[in-house]
Amino acid sequence: MKIRFGPAGKPINYKGDMAGVPAYLSKIGLDALEYEAVRGVRIKEEKARLLGEEAEKHGVLLSMHAPYYINLASKEKEKAEASRKRLYQAVRASHWMKAYAVVFHPGYYKGWTSPVEATKEVIRQLKVLVDEITTDGYTYPWLAPETTGKDSQVGSLDDIIMICTEIPKCRPTVDWAHLYARNQGKTVLTVEQIVEVIDRLEKELGSDPINPLHTHFSKIEYGKGGEKMHHTLEEDEYGPDWRIVCKAYAELGINATVISESPILEEDALVMKKICEEVKK
Ligand SMILES: [Zn+2]
Repeated sequence: MKIRFGPAGKPINYKGDMAGVPAYLSKIGLDALEYEAVRGVRIKEEKARLLGEEAEKHGVLLSMHAPYYINLASKEKEKAEASRKRLYQAVRASHWMKAYAVVFHPGYYKGWTSPVEATKEVIRQLKVLVDEITTDGYTYPWLAPETTGKDSQVGSLDDIIMICTEIPKCRPTVDWAHLYARNQGKTVLTVEQIVEVIDRLEKELGSDPINPLHTHFSKIEYGKGGEKMHHTLEEDEYGPDWRIVCKAYAELGINATVISESPILEEDALVMKKICEEVKK
């Protein structure tokens, strides 16, 4: 069982170039990094390759978060194509930096009669993308659709399983805070519920896509439609409880990557790591 921890993006206490981040993370005791291209993939090939080399040298596992402005279920042809292009750019940059997974929010239900219909359109677009990246040779990273925080977004657990069943080299990104917010705080409450999610993923997708299980965590505030904002671990009024998630990981003995999306990124990644060490004792 190996659990890696790291921040979503540049650590808050680090000043300097992105290429120096892996060395910094390794120094403070972390071993994962999600490169955030959430406002657009701007990194050039040379810098991406350098970051990849530094990550390898310092034992930091890289992933990438693709731009937020992606809606593969858009009924407007131009928007759907622009979305696919943004994801293509994220895959290409991930290939350069050898990020193992490209995390993305698939899109929105708007305009479709059911979540299943919207998800089918996402799958159709992803199949086109897979053809494009295969033709161009950018096949290194896994496509990693994320469980999303709002009930207007494609990204329930069912949607993600449906996508990964249809798309080759697809692994789920399980954002526990999003699942919790999307379900109005009714899930991610007990070790059993978490074990159930992971067991289902393994049963439906096999063991490769969940080894390691790619996960996001922070505390979260939610309202009627789901996610409102991410919070730090020490804010008691918000859930979910990291200790419960870690207990489930320990019970299953799985390998996992845990990306901290807390406002205090790497500081909470270290808190999570410490809690997991206590749980394992
Ligand atoms: Zn995300």
